[in-house]
Amino acid sequence: MANNYYEVEEQEGTRIEKVLLAALVAFLLVGGFWALGRIESSFPEPVLLSSTTTNYNLSQTDASTVSIEDELGVTQKRRDVAKLQQIVDNRNAVLSMARVAQTKAEKEYKFRREEYRTAMQAGSALPRVRTGFESSRAAYEVASALVLPAQAALDAATKQVAGEQQKLNAAQMRAQSVFDQRSFQRNLKLFAVHFTFAGACLAMSFAVWQRARKRRWRYLTVLTAVFTASVLQLLLLLLRYCWALFLQDIAVLGVSALGTIVCVLAIVGIKRWLYSPERLAQARLGSHRCARCATPFIESQNHCWKCGHALVEKCPSCGGNRLLFAPHCGNCGVGVQGSP
Ligand SMILES: [Zn+2]
Ligand SMILES: [Zn+2]
Repeated sequence: MANNYYEVEEQEGTRIEKVLLAALVAFLLVGGFWALGRIESSFPEPVLLSSTTTNYNLSQTDASTVSIEDELGVTQKRRDVAKLQQIVDNRNAVLSMARVAQTKAEKEYKFRREEYRTAMQAGSALPRVRTGFESSRAAYEVASALVLPAQAALDAATKQVAGEQQKLNAAQMRAQSVFDQRSFQRNLKLFAVHFTFAGACLAMSFAVWQRARKRRWRYLTVLTAVFTASVLQLLLLLLRYCWALFLQDIAVLGVSALGTIVCVLAIVGIKRWLYSPERLAQARLGSHRCARCATPFIESQNHCWKCGHALVEKCPSCGGNRLLFAPHCGNCGVGVQGSP
């Protein structure tokens, strides 16, 4: 019996140990969230606008990533529309110039006509006045003839730009929907990978902790801290996702359902592991209380004075009295299989 002392279960911890363990949990959490962040950055975020239109964004997004607008040709279409718009502007300027020239020529023509008419009435129509009238009429006709084609050219360009603009709008909407779809898929993947990571951490630390507990490892508290950190990591991750959902205002109902499930699972877990009937009974017996109703009793009692339940039973091994619900006999130390 040289290793007697290894059978002493360490349950008490010093204050300094508790502080160190809390710090350990915190440091483990920092590391865990660093890893989660790395996982997140390994999934590139989809970029909607091309880098040429959002230069200020270049520092954030990788310059080599092709934006969805570039990919779907939206950027090219936008450039085409801008070029066509330029043509429309030019033709608009030409038309207004033609209109100004026409108005001017019309004024001149009307003046010359009046001059010629007055001269005719006076009976002294000089050839100079006549040619002046005729040339101004010809100039007016020429100026008028220029307006119509200019108008037609402008109309054609306007129509074309409207058509291209419509195509551009459709392409922009398509790019937006592709962006939404890709963002959604990325979030879904990220969600799965995040929770797989956190779940794996939890499962592994729990398995190691369980093994060490069975072997009564002396530094079990370290593993308890690791396990605690992985539980906290999962909870914080859950909280983060819930918060994001809440902010997006997608489904308060979803948050409610998720929170309910988590809380119910936590309650079931606590009931099963921490407050299992065996643990409760042992804890009560340990402080001399009835295993059934938790009322304190003294050594000489055979039954609980409150609930009347038996406190002792006959030990099948030594025949002496042993505490009911106790895993081992207080006289001979023999355990009772199947004791509730
Ligand atoms: Zn009782
Ligand atoms: Zn016994």
